[in-house]
Amino acid sequence: MRKLQELFPVTDKIVLIGDSAVGKSQLLARFSRDEFNVDSKATIGVEFQTKTLDIDHKTVKAQVWDTAGQERYRAVTSAYYRGALGALLVYDITKRESFDHMARWLSELREHAGDSIVVMLIGNKSDLGSLRAVSTEDAKEFAQSQNVFFMETSALEATNVEPAFVSVLTEIYRIVS
Ligand code: GDP
Ligand code: MG
Repeated sequence: MRKLQELFPVTDKIVLIGDSAVGKSQLLARFSRDEFNVDSKATIGVEFQTKTLDIDHKTVKAQVWDTAGQERYRAVTSAYYRGALGALLVYDITKRESFDHMARWLSELREHAGDSIVVMLIGNKSDLGSLRAVSTEDAKEFAQSQNVFFMETSALEATNVEPAFVSVLTEIYRIVS
């Protein structure tokens, strides 16, 4: 049984959404390859990355989708959301506007992926504390009001990146098993 699971792990689709330049591609690079690309153009055009990991003693293959410059309102197609079980809703803690757009992204996500999708609100670039424009409290409050999880991350410093993805995957498993 264990062997079979390792050979054919269940694939979970997770989508990254949020405004342009909040760090979605870098979060994915950090999670899937433990990299941070200073020249982030290198990641343009990548549709998704996969990473196999252990969640509650089960082998799980996470397939994480990244938008390739389609971050304008309603430009993300329904194919992008189709079949997604989890989502990371990413803003930049130094860009208030990117946080203010979270409600819009969330409603678009729920419209396409359904209400049972596991959502984690992510305040990225936590390494830039001196430029902070969104308080942790505001974000926590918003996450609670929308019934989504919340974490602050730094793709640059590799803070909370794996825990964020693992939490989403663990919650998916808590629901389906
Ligand atoms: P995307 O458009 O949401 O995919 O954003 P990118 O991943 O391309 O990142 C946009 C810019 O923010 C790039 O210049 C990254 O180097 C930078 N960036 C991404 N994550 C972090 C982070 O955690 N900390 C800092 N300081 N910069 C970051
Ligand atoms: Mg990107």
